[in-house]
Amino acid sequence: MAKYEKPMVIANDELAEGVFAASGCYVVTVEKKQTNGEGRQDLRFTVRASHDANHTCSEQYLTINFTKPVEYRSSNGTIVSPADGSASSTLVIKFNYWNNPSDNIGMGDVIVFGDEDTDYTSASMTDNGKE
Ligand SMILES: [Zn+2]
Repeated sequence: MAKYEKPMVIANDELAEGVFAASGCYVVTVEKKQTNGEGRQDLRFTVRASHDANHTCSEQYLTINFTKPVEYRSSNGTIVSPADGSASSTLVIKFNYWNNPSDNIGMGDVIVFGDEDTDYTSASMTDNGKE
């Protein structure tokens, strides 16, 4: 049973980690890794998701929003939008994990290029290939 609602921020401001619920059938957690440089550089965001559902699925779409436009560098998935590598404050990345109904999934690190003080604002994930 999937409920498609706007992501809701449960905890963000004072914590290193943001937990986002009510996004499809996943609770998505994002953590910005420490950055040491100055100016524009590669930034690393660790994404985890827990599947809260009674189905399995084989394809996921992660949407992650940032405070400033970033350029996608790499992840364990495939960039869907923007597909041309241009800067955007919203990235959509496709993953192909086989998820059981209550799996906790490490989505790995999403690496982007942007200003050092760029942070995430929200994240959500939905799935395809449900069974
Ligand atoms: Zn699901």
